[in-house]
Amino acid sequence: LRIPFIAGNWKMFKTNKEALEFAEEFKKLYQDTDVKTAICAPFTQLETLKKAFAGTCIGVGAQNMHFEDEGAFTGEISLPMLKEIGVDYCIIGHSERRQYFAETDETVNLKLKKLLNESDIVPILCVGENLEQREAGKESEIVENQIKADLDGLSADKVARMVIAYEPIWAIGTGKTASAEQAGEMCALIRRVLEKLYDEDVCDQVTIQYGGSVKPENATEIMNMGEVDGALVGGASLKPDKFMGIINF
Ligand code: 13P
Repeated sequence: LRIPFIAGNWKMFKTNKEALEFAEEFKKLYQDTDVKTAICAPFTQLETLKKAFAGTCIGVGAQNMHFEDEGAFTGEISLPMLKEIGVDYCIIGHSERRQYFAETDETVNLKLKKLLNESDIVPILCVGENLEQREAGKESEIVENQIKADLDGLSADKVARMVIAYEPIWAIGTGKTASAEQAGEMCALIRRVLEKLYDEDVCDQVTIQYGGSVKPENATEIMNMGEVDGALVGGASLKPDKFMGIINF
């Protein structure tokens, strides 16, 4: 009942010109599939991609957003700004934001509330443990606590629209992929946490992705795990043919 959803996260890669080149090539490769897809690009490429993908089913997402409408927050981008461009998705709480830009569960929660209460933009919430936590066997506890804190105060109907990406930090950009079993187990854990917090309906509707060194070579195995509904792809989403290889898993 959940449609597979493969999203690219370009992080801080590509100029506008490069984004346009990607879009033109990707549109040629992209055929009607049963898989939903989107590219989450740097802010300056969002309008370019929205125009380039107009009339296709390819979605466009931002990678972050501030929780205020406007104000003296140098360097930040707000929801009204994203709405005007018409973005479809917004990544919230990526581990790189948590690690390098002081993102906390509290700010993640404020951003999710803003997005879900005031727009139709679908948040892609990222959660996941680091290597030390994994080695201490604490991954389930860490992820459960993140989900609880990040979703605090959000109603069931709002949460049902979300995408959650399980991204173990030790598997991001390292070439070290979680095994399909590890990915499957953690996505299943997230679904159980949602069931505890809300109900079966909500937990059945939320799309849960795995992210961390996903590439065409390992996409089939990961996507075939029962509880994994999709992937959030970093490095391998920068090349149209590679990204297409994952979509055609
Ligand atoms: P990589 O696919 O480059 O490991 O990045 C994963 C990620 O962080 C996606 O958000």
